[in-house]
Amino acid sequence: MAALQYYSTNRRAPRLSFGEALLRGQAPDRGLYMPERIPVFRSHELDELKALEYHETAYRVLSKFLAGEIPEETLRSLTRDAYDYPVVLEHGADRRYVMRLDRGPTASFKDFAARMMARLMDFYLEKRDDRLMILTATSGDTGSAIASAFYGLDHIDVIILYPRDEVSPSQRRQMTTLGGNVRVIALDGKFDDCQALVKQAFGDEELSGLGLTSANSINIGRLLPQSVYYWYAWAQLSESREDPVVFSIPSGNFGNMMGAMIARSMGLPVKRIVISTNENDEFPLFHLTGGYEKVVPSRNCISSAMNVGHPSNLSRLVDLYGGQMDEQGLLITSPDMAALRRDIYASAVSDEVTRQTMKEAWDTHRLLLEPHGAVGWKGLQEYRRDTGDTDSLQVVLETAHPAKFPEHIRDILSIDPEVPKTLQGLDQLEEHYEPMHAEYEQFKSFLQDFSREAGR
Ligand SMILES: *Cc1c(COP(=O)(O)O)cnc(C)c1O
Repeated sequence: MAALQYYSTNRRAPRLSFGEALLRGQAPDRGLYMPERIPVFRSHELDELKALEYHETAYRVLSKFLAGEIPEETLRSLTRDAYDYPVVLEHGADRRYVMRLDRGPTASFKDFAARMMARLMDFYLEKRDDRLMILTATSGDTGSAIASAFYGLDHIDVIILYPRDEVSPSQRRQMTTLGGNVRVIALDGKFDDCQALVKQAFGDEELSGLGLTSANSINIGRLLPQSVYYWYAWAQLSESREDPVVFSIPSGNFGNMMGAMIARSMGLPVKRIVISTNENDEFPLFHLTGGYEKVVPSRNCISSAMNVGHPSNLSRLVDLYGGQMDEQGLLITSPDMAALRRDIYASAVSDEVTRQTMKEAWDTHRLLLEPHGAVGWKGLQEYRRDTGDTDSLQVVLETAHPAKFPEHIRDILSIDPEVPKTLQGLDQLEEHYEPMHAEYEQFKSFLQDFSREAGR
């Protein structure tokens, strides 16, 4: 079978194989890679998923995209190695469930994407006898998941930028206590500033020799693994093939949401996708009006990993519905808004309502939610109230472990969340990081020095 090719959403770059698109990250025309065709599961394949463990589900889903690229046995062992932790589906109320994607090494759902991407990259670099430098901006959980996923790999160095005042101490320690091939920059600025520096470096000809690549949610190698857990949840919980599910997804950069859209395009029985944002409500407004405006600067909310004023994966969603949006958020061609509204429901949740929701979920259902998951739970409530759909199977994604936000949990619920093993003992380790202003020249010299040091 001929392997799938990947095109850029800006449509001014050549199509590439998966391996090439993975190692590149962003396309040379600054667009994002998408598969030229989305493979579809047959009915009997849907039935087979019921009996599978998570890593086997991952193999089935990913092999659809990677056939002809990676030997079957290799892919099987990569998925087994990446997904060696449980995926918990907790009953909330009636047919509502919470999918806890927080049992990986950094207690964040970003482990799912990062661990698979790291293994895929290492596979291709090994094969080519090449090395790369990963540059990533994080608003919290990406950085730690990337650092943990790539730590100790032979062919890859990692540089992480985070907004100094916008990540929690525990998130910070997960990034800064590793050392080795992982370098961390504490930027005096916002997440959007971090992202801007990273983007500028990628566009800088003088840095083209450094082998820079991205591990942000724009990388196709992060996107595809994020479609797997939607399949898994449906296979575990649905009563039949005709029992479609509503997913509510707390969203920031929209990588998670695009995973759901891809699963749906592959034939997953999805009734509606609820996109729940915090006060960065650019998408819910776009959904309502069809006009798009970024939120600049992004608003600081307690669901801090979703403080994104312009979701980079939005251009993929627009592309999927026949429109075009460039990397700046300029809508060049409108997508089919009627179809988009049929498939997607959108809701923005304020901090005040997020807090109320955490309290209410705990008091009425003994459901422990941290701020991101609470945004998802509330978005689902809005959907149910608005549409009257209270019968369907409904799954809210809980994207981080409550113990990552102990202050909020203590403050709102007056309890101390149990700390998972992976997060214990970090405060005893030494931290390494580089303070920096949001100035491109300083950042650029840092990259050049680091590259020389690494001996490239
Ligand atoms: C990154 C993150 C999100 C947002 O996910 P996107 O794929 O960027 O939309 C939500 N919750 C947590 C805890 C995160 O770390």
